Amino acid sequence: MTLGLGIESTAHTFSASVIDDSGKIRSNVKSVYRPPSGSGIHPREASRHHAEVAPSVVLSALKESSINYRELDFIAYSAGPGLGPCLRVGATISRFIAAYYDKPLIPVHHGVGHIELGSLLTDANDPLVLLLSGGHTMVLAAVNGRWRVFGETLDLTLGQLIDQFGRTIGLASPAGPTVEKIAEKGSKYVDMPYAVKGNDLSFSGLLTSVKRKMPEEIQENLAFSLQETAFAMLSEVAERALALLHKKELLVVGGVAANARLRQMLELVSDRHGCKLKDVPAEYAGDCGAQIAWTGWLYFKSGYSVKPEKAFVSQSWRIDEVDVPWRS
Ligand code: AMP
Ligand code: MG
Repeated sequence: MTLGLGIESTAHTFSASVIDDSGKIRSNVKSVYRPPSGSGIHPREASRHHAEVAPSVVLSALKESSINYRELDFIAYSAGPGLGPCLRVGATISRFIAAYYDKPLIPVHHGVGHIELGSLLTDANDPLVLLLSGGHTMVLAAVNGRWRVFGETLDLTLGQLIDQFGRTIGLASPAGPTVEKIAEKGSKYVDMPYAVKGNDLSFSGLLTSVKRKMPEEIQENLAFSLQETAFAMLSEVAERALALLHKKELLVVGGVAANARLRQMLELVSDRHGCKLKDVPAEYAGDCGAQIAWTGWLYFKSGYSVKPEKAFVSQSWRIDEVDVPWRS
């Protein structure tokens, strides 16, 4: 039995998880930094939060799975992309554990973590992926050992669009769940710019437009119209990629995947293409250590690890630059 520890710290969440080689999640402990209402994540404050909670989160993850450091076969950490100060907290603690206990250390791309845990939990085999985390809005499919991009945002991510709208109406980030509730009460569609370019997306005009309309329209209708427009844009690019690639599974991962209205639209898209919608259980849709631990295991199995002194973090690391040998 192989046991791995995964540590996630790219943005608001510090999380640690122990997973085994059968894909059983033995523990998945999280602590989320909450910025004050109306403001976004402050990297220094978030990293301070992470540094404070890190020892107890890691210890709880080990305790819940009834193992100690020595029984671990590898340590995996999210090496990017993300906020520099936050990434460094996770990398430092991982490097220390790996060096002290002489364990293989595995840097994991955060986006790959979202996708691979999603595939494990939904039993997806060769999906078209919508990666909708705070830092990504991408349409992806695996070709020759890499996740290749078939559409992405040219400016804001979908999560940033929703969070920045939330901030302007006084919500703290991440604002997605509250914006979703507000949108459910909206009934009138307010015209908004729809910007699909080729198979890419642009959300910045949508944000400007919704801010401009703030004085003359109620929040509920604005939230509703923002979601309808942005989700329709995403559905269009997903549909075009499905028509091109003929995938039989559509896997939706990342925090925004928790949105019920988005899932409803993607269900219709999937039905039209004879494809099965695979959505990750809400508990594992957002950032968590299990994503990193499971992807760590896939790398471990492929024989990949780094020496602690070679451990790195990368704030902007494109997913299509990362080798995923098990997808060859
Ligand atoms: P992640 O980085 O994967 O944890 O995703 C975080 C992003 O997901 C943030 O931008 C959140 O606002 C967004 N999010 C979380 N829940 C929802 C929801 N129910 N609807 C829309 N966006 C959401
Ligand atoms: Mg994420």
